Amino acid sequence: MPLKYKRVLLKLSGEALAGDKGFGIDYDVIRTISQSIQKCVALGAQIGIVVGGGNFFRGRSSDQIDRTRADHMGMLATVMNALALADGLEAQQVPVRVQTAITMQQIAEPYIRGRAIRHLEKGRVVIFGCGTGNPYFSTDTASSLRAAEIDADIILKATMVDGVYDRDPHKYEAAVRYDNVSFQEVLEKGLGVMDSTAAAMCRDNNIPVLVFSLSNPDNILAAISGEQIGTIVKEEKADE
Ligand code: UDP
Repeated sequence: MPLKYKRVLLKLSGEALAGDKGFGIDYDVIRTISQSIQKCVALGAQIGIVVGGGNFFRGRSSDQIDRTRADHMGMLATVMNALALADGLEAQQVPVRVQTAITMQQIAEPYIRGRAIRHLEKGRVVIFGCGTGNPYFSTDTASSLRAAEIDADIILKATMVDGVYDRDPHKYEAAVRYDNVSFQEVLEKGLGVMDSTAAAMCRDNNIPVLVFSLSNPDNILAAISGEQIGTIVKEEKADE
């Protein structure tokens, strides 16, 4: 099966790694995601992964702690997920490296762009921990930043919903899913794709985002192969 996208940035939210538990890590989920990624790598895909941390801690949800400090805690949460995912990938014989935006050299490599690209070229998955390394940002923004830096063809945003809707599909039965939508519309209508900083960065750097559901982990393979799933967000509305 030929791949539509050769180099991708996969964004996995912390929530997705928690599975039905809603908190912490579900190792069955880690295993099924890792198996899907293994198939993609076997086909020659180069995969960088940004992991979220919301299954442990979100800085903006905490009103008890100073925001910057809370964000530091959130970034540390992403490292726990990065390490768990690295372990899951190694169990599937996938070569993997974790790089963190905040140095913790006993645990992971520091983020070095050139080295990350070299790993990708050698067929290693690179997991980017600590988001951007800065408070007040999100792992969505980290995804757009890393995607731009590694020159990814697309961001694959695996979520709990199967695409982008005109309104919240959990609240409104009549919600309609887009096949494709522009970043401008996402920003103007406040569609729940990613935060506005991340969306603007993708728009400005012309990085498409495919939003799809992880309810079937093989959707990662389907997405990379170019199957019609989810919603594609691009600068201009695509005709296809
Ligand atoms: N975070 C941060 N800077 C970043 C990325 C993440 O401060 O560049 C912190 C922030 O507190 C955030 C938490 O890490 O709430 C977890 O990331 P995020 O909420 O994006 O995770 P997700 O919702 O995707 O699981």
